[in-house]
Amino acid sequence: KEKNASEPEFLQAVEEVLETLRPVIEANEEKYKKEALLERLVEPDRQIKFRVPWIDDKGQVQVNTGYRVQFNNAIGPYKGGLRLHPSVNIGIIKFLGFEQTLKNSLTGLPIGGGKGGSDFDPKGKSDREVMAFCQSFITELYKYIGADVDVPAGDIGTGAREIGYMYGQYKRITGRYEGVLTGKGLTFGGSLARTEATGYGLLYITRELMKCHGMDIKDKVCCVSGSGNVAIYATEKAQQMGAKVVTVSDSTGWVYDPEGIDLALLKEVKEVKRARLTEYAAARPSAQYHEGRGVWQIKCDIALPCATQNELLLEDAKQLVANGCTAVCEGANMPTTLEATKYLQDNGVLFICGKASNAGGVATSALEMSQNSERMSWTFEEVDAKLEQIMINIYHNIDDAAKRYGMEGNYVAGANIAGFEKVANAMIAQGIF
Ligand code: NDP
Repeated sequence: KEKNASEPEFLQAVEEVLETLRPVIEANEEKYKKEALLERLVEPDRQIKFRVPWIDDKGQVQVNTGYRVQFNNAIGPYKGGLRLHPSVNIGIIKFLGFEQTLKNSLTGLPIGGGKGGSDFDPKGKSDREVMAFCQSFITELYKYIGADVDVPAGDIGTGAREIGYMYGQYKRITGRYEGVLTGKGLTFGGSLARTEATGYGLLYITRELMKCHGMDIKDKVCCVSGSGNVAIYATEKAQQMGAKVVTVSDSTGWVYDPEGIDLALLKEVKEVKRARLTEYAAARPSAQYHEGRGVWQIKCDIALPCATQNELLLEDAKQLVANGCTAVCEGANMPTTLEATKYLQDNGVLFICGKASNAGGVATSALEMSQNSERMSWTFEEVDAKLEQIMINIYHNIDDAAKRYGMEGNYVAGANIAGFEKVANAMIAQGIF
């Protein structure tokens, strides 16, 4: 704790995981202690921090900080997104890398955990500025990544445009056409259904959860937060399943649309115009726009936090419970605080943590890696069907893991245990290093 005192998000993530792993640790205490397994698990394999200079449209040199934390490659090459947001620091990247290690293990696919990014903010930058940043970023990072070494992907602020620029620069420097990044454009090795995967996967696992508790997702009211990649495709799949999504948000405000979110309009505003939700509200008579945060006050059956970490607080959890919410499934990484999670679980709300419920994105990235390796492209339906099966398997694996340790219904514990067991066994088998 003292060692990482300046990294509260990392401590929060580790604390949550270790707490839920207690029964597994107690059952294997001697072995884990002797091997310092937990100490090794929470210490990244390596952390890379570098300068990213680039020239803005005024000819002025700007300097950002780049990060890549290669957390654990016991079960496969490091894999995890690159976050571009002013809030990025080493603690956030470490927390994401740690979570990613367990999440990737849960997918059942051979991928280790990593995460990276920069405090660069793509918002308000011209395409040329974004390109200049991405090229500079990769000019340093290329030394540490590779199709069998470390395969970064998108995250907040890193979408298809940024991945394209980064891929171009990697190819230019190394001369290699390889699956070194995922989330690529469809004409150069990207996978169909990757764009949709995290949001779709979230709904596949949510539907399985509901089904296993005798409920149907059809006609349920959902509150979604965020209005980025995950939020948009969660909304799309929820609507396809017959649910009604009534909210979305961004970092300045939120929309309540009792008629149900108009997805075509949302995509136009967010994906095409890259504009704010005020534009959505201006074009949609049934929508109410509010400044600040407030999505969780709206009565719903299912809450899907899809924006960012720590966006669903204890007071929100109380409001959701008071409004009769049945399930909370996380689309974002760690959107629910520890206290809020505990409150939801203690009050009978079905809760799946992001590690399990948003794993569809990275799972599909791993499918992109497979397609790149065999130099083939699968159809949308093929990828989507695999994604759905992966999400259903994750649900049953975390459910089983929780039951095995007498914590039935605690999917946070189940996800941590199931993810941990595979990584721990691989680490032990591979010896001390
Ligand atoms: P995007 O950048 O596409 O969207 C992020 C959304 O969250 C935007 O609407 C953004 O609003 C909002 N947001 C960001 N910061 C804040 C904040 N501090 N308060 C309120 N809203 C905020 O990112 P993604 O949709 O890709 O990612 C969302 C979450 O899902 C992240 O936690 C990410 O790590 C996680 N995730 C993403 C995966 C993927 O495949 N994309 C895979 C697994 C997890 P604004 O536009 O105002 O910034």
